Amino acid sequence: MTQAIYLDYNATAPMRPEARDAMVAALSVTGNPSSVHGFGRAARRLVEDGREAVAALVGVTPAQIVFTSGGTEANAMALAGLAAAGRRILVSAIEHPSVLAAAVTEQVPVLADGRIDLAALEAALAGSAQPAVISLMAANNETGVIQPVAEAAALARRHHALLHCDAVQAAGKIEVGFDALGADLLSLSAHKIGGPPGIGALVLREGVVVPPLIRGGGQERSRRGGTENVPGIVGFGAAATAAQSGLAAFAGLAAWRDELENRVQEACPSATIFGRSAPRLPNTSCIAMPGVPAETQLMGFDLAGFAVSSGSACSSGKVAASHVLKAMGAANHQMGSAIRASLGWDTREPEIAAFAAAWDSLHRRAGASAAA
Ligand code: PLP
Repeated sequence: MTQAIYLDYNATAPMRPEARDAMVAALSVTGNPSSVHGFGRAARRLVEDGREAVAALVGVTPAQIVFTSGGTEANAMALAGLAAAGRRILVSAIEHPSVLAAAVTEQVPVLADGRIDLAALEAALAGSAQPAVISLMAANNETGVIQPVAEAAALARRHHALLHCDAVQAAGKIEVGFDALGADLLSLSAHKIGGPPGIGALVLREGVVVPPLIRGGGQERSRRGGTENVPGIVGFGAAATAAQSGLAAFAGLAAWRDELENRVQEACPSATIFGRSAPRLPNTSCIAMPGVPAETQLMGFDLAGFAVSSGSACSSGKVAASHVLKAMGAANHQMGSAIRASLGWDTREPEIAAFAAAWDSLHRRAGASAAA
């Protein structure tokens, strides 16, 4: 095996050199951003420059950004806070576990193509006079399916509800405009866009107040206590700037992803490609190889030098039935044989051709051993 080929960007993206270099420099800066002396002011400048860059990625003002420890905390802060404030939490059935577990939620189904059922959402909103918040992701981590967030936000407004959008997978991959989406709250994570893990942000519409999850200290305008993660914020900002200028190149990944899917379907017409009929992120492909368990594929691809994920496990490494594919109406045998390949800023075209060949070879070998 030569060097492994990394096709698991939706789990975490390799760090962009711009982010790494900026972080290395920031590690030499001493100072607490809350200190008034020159050291503190230098650290504060780094934090505020990072905030500006992250704000620019989603078209908001820096004051709307609250830095968190990642996407999970941003989702928890948004939803646990609003639930505690007495709101009903309506979420799509395909949200990330950090949304599903953030509060007591009511789930809204999705259609077979992976997009939220807007009619069901409207009926759920109309079903109660309790003020609600809708949580709808911008794009799904397993299938890449892009959700109709602006349409859901219009429904939210009609029913005096708020809209939270988990944009962790979409930001830096496609254009994500906070106002264009009509969001009131939006979650981001640095490590999905080539920044470091352990830093993210919750973006708030002006006037939207969420009780802090972490209290103490007046940091982040008293919205999130704790000394700021200065190098993390610096890396996040640098990654946000690089991702934004790389959006056009990222869109080009769709051609390679389509080429992969076409080759897979030529090799095996009964392979399922989830969400293919819906708008998707340019980089994500979730494919079921008929008759071959996802675990077997993951091991086979790993041995052949390819890093991919099972459709379900973005966090734990375990292979469990995917709630996303299940919500889309996938059969058990399809769910059990789905893997996700996700491309990114450092993916090269020959890597995709090599993966398509490896897919074909694993499929043939599995067929041969089943026949033996
Ligand atoms: N939301 C989505 C859609 C994700 O894919 C992830 C990634 O695991 C998260 C939230 C959690 O982000 P983080 O790893 O920064 O906590």
